[in-house]
Amino acid sequence: MVRFTVLASGSKGNSTVVSGGRTRILVDAGLSCRELFRRMKLADEDPETLDAIVITHEHQDHVNGLAVTVRRLGIPVYFTEATHRAWMRWLTPRRQMTYKQWLELCRKQAAERQAEPEAAAPEAAADDSEFEDAGPEEAEAQCMTQAAPSPDPAPESSIDPASAGPGSPRTGPGPWGDAPPSLKEDPTWLPAVEYFRAGEPFSIGDIALSPFTIPHDAADPVGFVLSSEGVRMGFATDLGYIPPNVKEQLQALDLLLLESNHDLEMLRDGPYPWSVKQRVLSRVGHLSNDATAEFLSTAYDGQAAYVILAHLSENNNLPELARVAAERALMGRASLLANRLLLAEQHQPLSAIRF
Ligand SMILES: [Zn+2]
Ligand SMILES: [Zn+2]
Repeated sequence: MVRFTVLASGSKGNSTVVSGGRTRILVDAGLSCRELFRRMKLADEDPETLDAIVITHEHQDHVNGLAVTVRRLGIPVYFTEATHRAWMRWLTPRRQMTYKQWLELCRKQAAERQAEPEAAAPEAAADDSEFEDAGPEEAEAQCMTQAAPSPDPAPESSIDPASAGPGSPRTGPGPWGDAPPSLKEDPTWLPAVEYFRAGEPFSIGDIALSPFTIPHDAADPVGFVLSSEGVRMGFATDLGYIPPNVKEQLQALDLLLLESNHDLEMLRDGPYPWSVKQRVLSRVGHLSNDATAEFLSTAYDGQAAYVILAHLSENNNLPELARVAAERALMGRASLLANRLLLAEQHQPLSAIRF
């Protein structure tokens, strides 16, 4: 059986469970680990049975609980390489420092360690001058080594490599030894990472994924068509407009989840500062109710059993406005059998859709 359960959708967090055959994956992990697990249990899905998490793009509302969740479960994350890098940059603010600032921080940390009685050593001053001559990478390596505390025996957020099943996690030892680093030591550490590319289909167990590029202000954002057991599910949120490649992908589906982010008038008259309004309205922002309706009335083939409106803004939209716009666009094609219209919610999971 194929199940599709939207756990959360909107600017405060996005996550959907898709299960097909013996495989269960999460698309995006924008809620905290605790909240993700709570909602999965509400939706009758067991978090322990997840096989992987797939990420559409690095914005916080799509990755917020990612690191903690995969460390807990010891499962791989599927990213594009650019998204993975952008996510790491987001979590590693020190990389935004100048080299001089970074060196200064390393010195300060070294000085603090030297101040501790057991670390005090006569050659400390010599170490410090060597440090100054080191290149950026070397300095960073030294800083990491020097700063590395002993491995955390049982942090809530770490996984036990010994208890992990075969094939899953690759617990890259790196400078941390055999145990994975804690979140504090290295917030970017993940049990395993797999890269995919837009335009190149791939599979995770019994679920096939076809990623496609979407226009959005992130490093390398994608939407997906997921298929399993002959059921095709289209998934596209966070896009400024619907370009031809996306229109092509979102056809012959059994389920379509599509963004219907804002009502144009509410956004224009709403509380956001001008610059944010511009961002949302731009070609790399979010789809308005009108843009989604336009797709549904002109380019969409009307074949899906379910149409789910997603990523609704809580400030610049009302569920009824999104619904009415989509209903009009479907021109009476919405029924119990075809184009059944659902609205994904921010604060509670939708009931599982089963095929
Ligand atoms: Zn988003
Ligand atoms: Zn986004």
